[in-house]
Order: sequence, then C-alpha cells, then structure tokens
Amino acid sequence: LYNQVQDLKGNIRVYCRVRPFLPGQENRFTTVEHVEDRTITISTPSKHSKEGKKSFSFNKVFGPSATQAEVFADMQPLVRSVLDGYNVCIFAYGQTGAGKTFTMSGPNNPTEETYGVNYRALNDLFYLSEERKATISYEVSVQMMEIYNEQVRDLLATDDIRNSSQNGINVPDANRLPVTTTADVIHLMNLGFKNRAVCSTAMNDRSSRSHSCMTVHVQGKDLTSGATLRGCMHLVDLAGSERVDKSEVTGDRLKEAVHINKSLSALGDVIASLATKNTHVPYRNSKLTQLLQDSLGGQAKTLMFVHISPEADAVGETISTLKFAERVASV
Ligand code: ADP
Ligand code: MG
Repeated sequence: LYNQVQDLKGNIRVYCRVRPFLPGQENRFTTVEHVEDRTITISTPSKHSKEGKKSFSFNKVFGPSATQAEVFADMQPLVRSVLDGYNVCIFAYGQTGAGKTFTMSGPNNPTEETYGVNYRALNDLFYLSEERKATISYEVSVQMMEIYNEQVRDLLATDDIRNSSQNGINVPDANRLPVTTTADVIHLMNLGFKNRAVCSTAMNDRSSRSHSCMTVHVQGKDLTSGATLRGCMHLVDLAGSERVDKSEVTGDRLKEAVHINKSLSALGDVIASLATKNTHVPYRNSKLTQLLQDSLGGQAKTLMFVHISPEADAVGETISTLKFAERVASV
C-alpha cells in the first residue's frame, strides 16, 4: 500500500523549499535563478563558482508559490505509512527565517489553508483511521520535546520539576497525551509553544536556537487477529543552521552556537552514513540522533526538508544549506 509506494523511492529523501519574499520586499534581488520539479539553480557571486550558476538536484523542489496543501500532498504517503507500522522522521533544516516553522506548523495564527505539516499529518491519520475502523482500531498519542544546549525538555510536562531530563535518552517519562480530534492537537500544540516560550524573552528568541520535536505515536489493533502494530513519526523543527562567527559571540551565544553546530553536523553524518549504507552509524554524537536512533535507519523513513531564503544577500547560507542537503541525499 503506502509503504510500497515509498519503498520504490528508497528510505531517505531530500526536499527543498524556497520561501517567497515577505510582503514589502518583493523587489529585492534574488539568488534563485530557476526552480524545476527536482532541480534548483542558484546564481552565485564569483567566489562560489566560476560559471556564476550552480544547480542542485533533490527528490523534489518547491518554489516560492507552493502552497501548504501542495507540500503536504507530496508527503502524504510517507505520513500514512505510520499507520502501517513504519517509523518516520521529518526534519526541517535551514537558516533562521527560511521557513522551517512555516512548513512544519504554519505562520502565527494559522488558518485551515496555512496550517503546516504537523496539523495536516494528524488530521490525515484521524481520517484514515476512521476509514479503517471496521478492521483496525488505532490509538494516537503525541509528545513534544525541545533540545536546547544538548538538554532534552518535555514541552508537555505540566510539572516543572520533571521538565528537564539530564540523560534525556528517549525521555521515557516525557508526557505522552492521547489525541482523537484536531481540536486536541491544536490544544497540545498551543501548550507546547507556550512552554517553549517560557524560556525566551523578546531579545532572545530561543526557538531558532533549539530543536523542537513533535512525536506522534500510533498503535493499531487488528480486530480479527488481535495483532498490534506500532508506528511513530517525529516532526522536527531544527535550530537555525546559520554559521555564527565564533570570534564575535561569547557566553551563552557561543555555547548555543557550538551545540547547534555539533548536533546539526551529527545529524548530517548519521543521514549521510545511512544513505551510503555504512555499517557504522554515528548515533552517539548528539542528543538529537540518540533520541531518534530507533527511527533513523533500518526500515524507518527519513525526509530532510531543507529551506532557503530567496534574498541575494543570503547566498552564502543558501549555498551551504544546499551543500548539506546534497551530502545527505541518497546515492
Ligand atoms: P524559520 O522557522 O526557518 O526561522 P519561519 O517559518 O519563521 O522561518 O519564516 C519566517 C517568516 O517567513 C515568517 O513570517 C513566515 O510566516 C514567513 N514564511 C515562511 N515561509 C513562507 C511561505 N512558504 N509562504 C509565506 N510566508 C512564509
Ligand atoms: Mg522557526
């Protein structure tokens, strides 16, 4: 079924999305020369390439006018494979402001049209489990976590004392709350976002410097045989990938930059090593890859969704994002 469609495509895929210009900035210079179904061409200043142009190919490229519904439609088979017992990881990667949170959750105050992947995915799982209810009984539950400076925090913990887990591996005590309707999901997302915001101030938007992960657990019971299957999906909004000039930051900023750099390269190393079918996969190098170890590799399916900003002055970050993506794309 859905898994078969996916198997044809392999277990690791890489998508790219270009953010549109924000309102009022439409006539700025862009670095995105051309977008096709699977290829993006960037015009580069001379220091990045001789030709002044560089093309990158991925499983799918979404241009600035792609809608949330179009993006989700492409990911739908992957999401649905969770109901067949597969584990899935979906990562949003890119520099701060490139559109990661927009893709995963939507803008502030989203509408039916602008809701992101997490809401659409849960909606779709509810829809499909309703459709299958005569043969399989599904239970869906959700966890939300944040990784900041290599510490895992449960965003759905109601009790602040349990909030921080020192070892953080699999956070077995992270609150896992059952959901049956989209209203439940919206409620939990709001709770998670509120808990996350507690740790940031106006000057210090922590969301760009921590990874947030919404994990959806599905358990299905076959009503005739009594057999159960389990699948889970991790929806990860990664910390901003921009390189921080370490000679210009100190204290907390420096510490954050070091942790982010380390965990994003650990993630890149794990996916690249899965893509080349290496026998040694370096899961232990970061909290993020340890946390997701069971859902990365093996039968699990991974989608790395890289985001780029369209502005010409972002070209340096854009090229390094696309190079990261190229490295983890399966060969
Ligand atoms: P990031 O999470 O990568 O830092 P955001 O998702 O917060 O970036 O996006 C930055 C801004 O651009 C936000 O105001 C967001 O609503 C807007 N934005 C991002 N992607 C899109 C898009 N595809 N269409 C319209 N607006 C977008
Ligand atoms: Mg964000």
